[in-house]
Amino acid sequence: MELKFLGGCREVGKSSILVDTGKEKFVMDHGIEVQEGHSPMQPPLNLDGVIITHAHLDHSGFVPGLYSRGYSGRTFATPATFDLSHMLLEDSLKVQKKRGMQPGFSSQDIKRMGRREKIMNFNDPHEFGSSTVELFSAGHIPGAAMVKIESRGKNLLYTGDIKFINTDFMFGADTNVGEVHTLISESTYSYKNHPKRSELKSKLLEIVESTCHNGGVTLLPAFAVGRTQELLLMLKDIEFPIYVDGMGIRAADRMLSHPKSFLNAGKLRSALDNAHCIRKNPERKEAVSQPSVIITTAGMLQGGPVSFYISRLAQRKDSSMVLTGYQVEGTAGRNLLETGVYDNGEMSVKPEFPIHFMDFSAHTDRDHLIKFYKELSPEKIILVHGDRTQEFAEEMKEQHGFDAVAPANGDTLSV
Ligand SMILES: [Zn+2]
Ligand SMILES: [Zn+2]
Repeated sequence: MELKFLGGCREVGKSSILVDTGKEKFVMDHGIEVQEGHSPMQPPLNLDGVIITHAHLDHSGFVPGLYSRGYSGRTFATPATFDLSHMLLEDSLKVQKKRGMQPGFSSQDIKRMGRREKIMNFNDPHEFGSSTVELFSAGHIPGAAMVKIESRGKNLLYTGDIKFINTDFMFGADTNVGEVHTLISESTYSYKNHPKRSELKSKLLEIVESTCHNGGVTLLPAFAVGRTQELLLMLKDIEFPIYVDGMGIRAADRMLSHPKSFLNAGKLRSALDNAHCIRKNPERKEAVSQPSVIITTAGMLQGGPVSFYISRLAQRKDSSMVLTGYQVEGTAGRNLLETGVYDNGEMSVKPEFPIHFMDFSAHTDRDHLIKFYKELSPEKIILVHGDRTQEFAEEMKEQHGFDAVAPANGDTLSV
């Protein structure tokens, strides 16, 4: 098999890999780099299929761009991935236009993609000539899959984004993937381990309760897909009102139509019913007028209703903010953590409330990655989707004896 890395190498963003088995050609993921809207390198269009591991835009965000360029073949993914990616793609198009960027595809192209979609469920192998493609649950967000491609006695497994532990919201990945010769692995957290989820959860509940008891508001900026729902589940028993604002509400609705794609669908339904869903400014004003918890997009403070709340609460020492996910360099969230100043291009303010950071990561950490590699024992490990892939490849070679590499975007590898 010949692999060409079109994006997502030595970086987190615009993941895309071309697989050429000698007979069939597949593209696994075709995302965008969300900050600037950069697309991956473009593959040939005579593909046997495009396979999307999960809905996050760094994996799905430029699939309609292929249709815009004239691709007319199939796109494969799980039902939850298709459902969530359509919501995220439409939103991404809107955001890119608003920021004056050139999206590289239109709403028509998203529809074109929709007409060529073919559902692929977990553990249900599909034959393509000499190749077989099978998806395994990746435990990252609802619908998230690992892709296994087998061709003429050789096979490869691409993890997409992966998480092994169970949380209140997601089950861990299905590691029963059979024999793997070549492993292409994400390595977002190759350099660190996560604190225990239960400890993070208790700390979060402590902050929320003490803020509310002081009469303040706890602001929880969160990603719409995954984090918002996990927070709703974690906070379902608190005695103060919970407000949810932004795309997380719609995302939760879509997930609830795939109740087997995550854990605790019934509890999420009732948490959502008990929460106040905010759609307009008067409701936002009401939310900040009393002790409450507000879960809102954007998770990295790049746009979305969160800026309204920050401007309203900036002088309130009784309130607090917890950033609940990874903050990419250059985002308003990362800058706020580093400088204490929130600047979204339209306003600049130094909030007086305390700002906490708690990464409820949906990615596996270092120890679990290494454990996975040892169990799987592949002939070759290719590290992608991380800022420190080269370092990690060196370490895997030197200390654990794996044949590990960290390609750059544009590199090709024969496996
Ligand atoms: Zn992801
Ligand atoms: Zn990703």
